[in-house]
Amino acid sequence: MTAPVPEQPPQQPQQSNAAEDAAIVAAIAVLLAMVPAPPIGRLITLLTQHRVSRPAARAAVALVTSTGRDAVLPLGPAAQGMQRTNLLRRAQYLLAAAKRLTRTLGTNPSREALTEALRRERQYWRQHLHASDRRTQAAALVDSTADTASGQVIDPREPSQPRRVLGWRAVMDDRTTADCRAAHGRNFYADQEPRIGWPGTVHVRCRCRPVAPWPTRRLVDGGLLPHLPGRTREVAASNPRR
Ligand SMILES: [Zn+2]
Repeated sequence: MTAPVPEQPPQQPQQSNAAEDAAIVAAIAVLLAMVPAPPIGRLITLLTQHRVSRPAARAAVALVTSTGRDAVLPLGPAAQGMQRTNLLRRAQYLLAAAKRLTRTLGTNPSREALTEALRRERQYWRQHLHASDRRTQAAALVDSTADTASGQVIDPREPSQPRRVLGWRAVMDDRTTADCRAAHGRNFYADQEPRIGWPGTVHVRCRCRPVAPWPTRRLVDGGLLPHLPGRTREVAASNPRR
């Protein structure tokens, strides 16, 4: 993503760095968050100030803003957090796509070169959307499972803030990866994404799922719950057993 660009617009500085990329990604994310109509002109201007050619910026912005897929749904904490994550990933994708197109096309591409480069880029875009959808679904499943099956723990340091806890279940066979295997049978907080991601997002074919908490204090991220998770009045009352 930060590889040097062979054909630089002459007025731009030569070096690229991760901090600058992080800043521009944050700025792009702010503009992309302006739904339903992100300001296309401002996105293009922002990109062209960062070693991206104008044709590349135009093409990349058109690709990324053409898909209105952000459904407005009632969101729980996991899905809300994932919405922010997805927005940042989309901004990262837009910057990377614009830089790829700039490298491929230079500053004055032919119509054919643009079409061919965009054909490839659309494939990356579909992969990006697919990964986004998977993360969104995984987060929504955490929220819904937390509503129906979570346990609760109370940290004695924060007794007024009980937290919901879920269990991690992996499909255990010869295809299970080391991360998923290690997480299986441990618990996680339903409002805090584990370092390896939510169940179902650890890798491309992750088959893990959130389940009711296991009778253990061990956490997916390491460390221990303050006590064994218990079924709470609040959870029980909102989901009466039949
Ligand atoms: Zn998994």
